[in-house]
Amino acid sequence: MSLIMPAPDAHTIQRRDEIVAALRSIVPFECVIDDRDALRAYESDGLTAYRQPPLVAVLPGTTGEVSAILAWCYVNRVKVVPRGSGTSLSGGALPLADAVLLGMSRFNRVLDINYTDRIAVVQPGVTNLAVTRAVEDEGFYYAPDPSSQIACSIGGNVAENSGGVHCLKYGLTTNNVLGAEMVMMDGEVIRVGGRILDPPGLDLMGVVVGSEGLLGVVTEVTVRILPKPGTARALLIGFPTVESAGQCVADTIAAGIIPAGMEMMDALAIRAAEAFVGVGYPLDVAALLIVELDGVPAECDHLIDEVAAIARANGSVSLRASQNEEERTAFWAGRKAAFPAVGRLAPDYYCMDGTIPRRRLPEVLERMEQLSGKYGLDVANVFHAGDGNLHPLILYDANIPGELDRAEAFGNDILRLCVEVGGVLTGEHGVGVEKRDLMSEMFSETDLKHQQRLKCAFDPELLLNPGKVFPRLHRCAELGRMHVHGGQVPFSNLPRF
Ligand SMILES: Cc1cc2nc3c(=O)[nH]c(=O)nc-3n(C[C@H](O)[C@H](O)[C@H](O)COP(=O)(O)OP(=O)(O)OC[C@H]3O[C@@H](n4cnc5c(N)ncnc54)[C@H](O)[C@@H]3O)c2cc1C
Repeated sequence: MSLIMPAPDAHTIQRRDEIVAALRSIVPFECVIDDRDALRAYESDGLTAYRQPPLVAVLPGTTGEVSAILAWCYVNRVKVVPRGSGTSLSGGALPLADAVLLGMSRFNRVLDINYTDRIAVVQPGVTNLAVTRAVEDEGFYYAPDPSSQIACSIGGNVAENSGGVHCLKYGLTTNNVLGAEMVMMDGEVIRVGGRILDPPGLDLMGVVVGSEGLLGVVTEVTVRILPKPGTARALLIGFPTVESAGQCVADTIAAGIIPAGMEMMDALAIRAAEAFVGVGYPLDVAALLIVELDGVPAECDHLIDEVAAIARANGSVSLRASQNEEERTAFWAGRKAAFPAVGRLAPDYYCMDGTIPRRRLPEVLERMEQLSGKYGLDVANVFHAGDGNLHPLILYDANIPGELDRAEAFGNDILRLCVEVGGVLTGEHGVGVEKRDLMSEMFSETDLKHQQRLKCAFDPELLLNPGKVFPRLHRCAELGRMHVHGGQVPFSNLPRF
């Protein structure tokens, strides 16, 4: 594997017993895991190509414990890697040999629900789906819905700015999180954001969302909850070419219709999903669109007709509209199970995540096909078509020497292609270690240094999740001070009106 991580600090590794003892003085004995076999449970996240058992794992249960752990690690210069449920697909929670792994799974309580203010206050280890489960009896839900929602944690969602099928209409995590409590690397506890949409002060919540565990450890999250739409109906539309499906997506959005979800699958993904769940996907089409419309029933029916007309104008060859909730769920079942379904086609798959302008979709898919030929590896495509977020799944066999390296090189070429056509390196899975070394394809050295200055403002000793996101981590002293011009202007010098 080509991944180069910072060389482990031998001195820290030698101090393992001392570190374990210090952690046990903060949390109950059984919440410090130092047994080497038990630590294997944490050796990777969803990007299983990379594995590294941590030095030791600790499972705090209160903000005070997180604060004490970080403060001790700060004073003793010990690195820390935060972890939620470990489903990251970009290696964000990959442990380091000389770092404490800080598992947040014990932070699993819903603290407060306020239906009048439409908010829920939850601990970061609560799973994404559990938030909806907690409020659904009152007719509410939490909108961002990653396919991993049964397992992934809200803390991980905040760190990765996660998305899902419904983010086209309802926004990503960043649009649905209002506030958080966060522990800084030196143990200080801060609050960012609040309980309302636009709290006063700098938008630090915006900085924390998507920060991939590099700025602080989130210990509480306030999320927006939304009333469930009156109705939701889905269309299942088959197209003879990917181009015609892509044009249907573009024309729908151009017509001013924002579907609740708009997903596309290519022929390989359709066949895999149908073989897995058997819900009646057409097998003789090159691309399948699943389009969900929601709202009051009359609006929903009207939009279904509008999208169906746009699809027909783009040459669709099959079209079904769900007539009841059972059918709508069945339409989605194949898409939701697409990853495991594709997982049955080959011993391993590598899930990529890049975003492109919608109009470049056909061209990008064609060039991906060429790359597939070049690398001799198949690729199945499942994507959030409405917002141009691609998830190519590269099929390979890690037991065949060289195939994993080829899959990685193929994936890197796909991401370079996304940037070349005006897109970005990530959609919703984060940078982590997976895309770290490609950051320079997208950002200049100056851009990256400015981003790192922000990291330095939160974590000047670079102890929190090092080796992730930045291709090169400069010492903060090397980057110089943040450019603050002059000092405060004395009130007496301000112009008077
Ligand atoms: C089958 C499958 C499908 C997926 N589908 C989607 C999808 O549709 N959309 C999507 O966006 N993602 C998807 N993912 C990726 C993944 O589920 C998300 O990135 C998720 O948000 C990770 O949450 P987690 O709790 O597992 O975090 P982890 O994997 O444990 O950690 C992810 C990052 O968050 C940091 N972190 C975790 N908790 C905290 C905390 N409390 N404070 C500070 N930092 C923290 C970690 O350091 C790490 O950098 C999928 C993954 C799988 C395996």
